Amino acid sequence: MVATPAWPPKSTPRLFVEQALGEGIGVTVEGNGAHYLAKVMRKSVGDPVLLFNGRDGEWLATIGEIHKKRLLLAPGHQTRPQETVPDLTLAFAPIKKGRIEFLVEKAVELGVAKLQPVIMQRSVVDKVNPDKMHAHIVEAAEQCGRTALAELLPPLKLGAFLDRRDAGVPLYFCDEEGGAPALSAFEPAPSTILVGPEGGFTDEERAAVRAAPGAVAISLGPRILRAETAALAAVAAFMAGAGDWK
Ligand code: SAH
Repeated sequence: MVATPAWPPKSTPRLFVEQALGEGIGVTVEGNGAHYLAKVMRKSVGDPVLLFNGRDGEWLATIGEIHKKRLLLAPGHQTRPQETVPDLTLAFAPIKKGRIEFLVEKAVELGVAKLQPVIMQRSVVDKVNPDKMHAHIVEAAEQCGRTALAELLPPLKLGAFLDRRDAGVPLYFCDEEGGAPALSAFEPAPSTILVGPEGGFTDEERAAVRAAPGAVAISLGPRILRAETAALAAVAAFMAGAGDWK
């Protein structure tokens, strides 16, 4: 008995679009998406493409028309319902180029719902490029199969972040000077994880965070992790212990 090949094939491209997705609602893909499908993936009319927009789940579409700078796609049926990811916000100090892309990409793959850049005294970098960061979020979401897009929040200084946060949401702050073992501390509820910059928290910052309502200092073991490693490790521990890895 020859097994019928899975459809759509594993190689089917998966693209984020802003437009509404639904049966019979034509979708126009332009710019980078059009270049990727037509030139990089060398797709033809009739080929399948998976589309998601962060709101309507994932849809299997067929390429209807290919023009110089745009393609017209026709969604057929929904292949994945719109998911919800655990309500976890990763608050992190913007770290230097190359490493911050790694941090954002891993946070998206691991299932973080929101990304909150927080400027701290020892931050090497004190601003983020929202368009570039959004592009990294989209690319990671396309690759890992998420239908919920991670939300990028505007950067805040630590003081403003502590003032504006919802005090009812636990603030798990990864403290290189020690804290509760991560796995046992995380609870399955809306949460925020805070990771410091390359230079770590200053004593003043550490005191301010520890004094915040709902703050829980978290240890990620006896070694000093780079900020991007700490973010990845803390989010992974949360997802394993209190998130959606089951
Ligand atoms: N500059 C400091 C460490 C900063 S590491 C030093 O070199 O000693 C960057 C961030 O990663 C820290 O602020 C903390 O949030 C997190 N981190 C690193 N290692 C950790 C650990 N073992 N436990 C908890 N958090 C850690």
